[in-house]
Amino acid sequence: MKYFIITFGCQMNKSDSERIASVLESAGYKSALKIDEADLIVVNMCSVRKSAADRAYGVLPKFEKLKIKKDSSGSKQQNLKTVLTGCVLKKDRKKFTEKFDFILDVKNLSKWPEILGSNPPPKTDNYLKIEPKYSNNFSAFVPIMTGCNNFCAYCVVPYARGSEVSRPAEEIICEVGNLIKRGYKEIWLLGQNVNSYNSISFSQLLKKINDIPGEFWIRFTSSHPKDFSDELIEVMADCKKVTEYLNLPVQSGDNEILKKMNRPYTIEYYKNLVKKIRKKIPDIALSTDIIVGFPGETEKQFENTIKLFKEIKFDMAYIFKYSPRPGTAAAKMEDTVPQKERGRREKVLTEILKETALENNKKYINKEIEVLVENKKSSNSWLGKTRTHKNVQFESKENLLGQFVKIKITNALPWGLKGEIL
Ligand code: SAM
Ligand code: SF4
Repeated sequence: MKYFIITFGCQMNKSDSERIASVLESAGYKSALKIDEADLIVVNMCSVRKSAADRAYGVLPKFEKLKIKKDSSGSKQQNLKTVLTGCVLKKDRKKFTEKFDFILDVKNLSKWPEILGSNPPPKTDNYLKIEPKYSNNFSAFVPIMTGCNNFCAYCVVPYARGSEVSRPAEEIICEVGNLIKRGYKEIWLLGQNVNSYNSISFSQLLKKINDIPGEFWIRFTSSHPKDFSDELIEVMADCKKVTEYLNLPVQSGDNEILKKMNRPYTIEYYKNLVKKIRKKIPDIALSTDIIVGFPGETEKQFENTIKLFKEIKFDMAYIFKYSPRPGTAAAKMEDTVPQKERGRREKVLTEILKETALENNKKYINKEIEVLVENKKSSNSWLGKTRTHKNVQFESKENLLGQFVKIKITNALPWGLKGEIL
């Protein structure tokens, strides 16, 4: 019996898929290289934006084909089962019930083998305690919490993932310790709001992970500006394994829009926070998330976001066109910004970002920096990341995947750097 997992969405979904793979393998399934070989197909979906949710619908014609193949040949595919999981909204559940054999909650992962008719179920009821089948042997996602209590007006996450639950610190430290013993070089601590982690404070958790012996980098995402304490800034600056990269979603550059979004901070607070962070960690690279065309966003309010972009000079930004999501507070607001205008606003911000990112990247030219090699681009061409999460392309005939290498930066582009291996 073989399984195939299709994952959409954020790192949290990718991390969940690693645990799903682990449970399926302990239940006797093997990984299929191609979807056509699978007896079980799992779609791990995302509902954050409509376009993301539509991707789950996009796979359905393929299922139909696979089922037709099954009928006519009567062969191996006969037992094809399909599972939908991830962030599934109540409203979509009904529609998907007809299309999938099962809609299963990842939180009940230990029950999946029983439901799917295989054995044995994992020993734990808490899905985060299940050891994942990590996707590679050098960089690992470690969820430290799930869910969200913030109810931003536009967002489905609190409905789809439930309220915040933090994993015990000892469990996280044990998982990271084992990964480091196995030679992992990069640990991504994941959560919808990592800095609302409350088993111990998030800064204390960072300190404890930083104390684990070994040569590795610590990254984390996402951070909510409202929970970013001075202690966390100090700890980031002091802990040598914590990298100089921060995703700090601002969502809008306008105070009125922030209020309507139910984001409990002002632009003045955000700018002051960035100032404090840059003072303590001068090399930090900053990325953000922005929603353009939120209901009622006027041209003037959008100009405030332009102003913020020009002022902060982000290294990266994830710019999203507002997408009304069922059940959220914003879905009831009058949707005043046409899709075409949202597209224009997205383009305007992307152009500013291109300039600021390039300006920031030029500072790396002639510097010798450490890079973790992540990907082979072509025969002798490799892609890696700096501590500041910048892409670096370089040439080497050696297989350097998963290793730290020293690179001299020779060229800067808006979305990355080029260099020579030393
Ligand atoms: N928890 C993080 C935070 O508050 O910053 C972000 C998590 S959310 C899954 C990722 C991003 O998706 C958000 O930062 C937001 O910019 C974007 N997003 C969420 N709902 C959206 C919507 N309805 N339309 C467009 N973008 C949306
Ligand atoms: Fe969504 Fe807001 Fe929670 Fe982030 S903090 S996951 S944007 S509700």
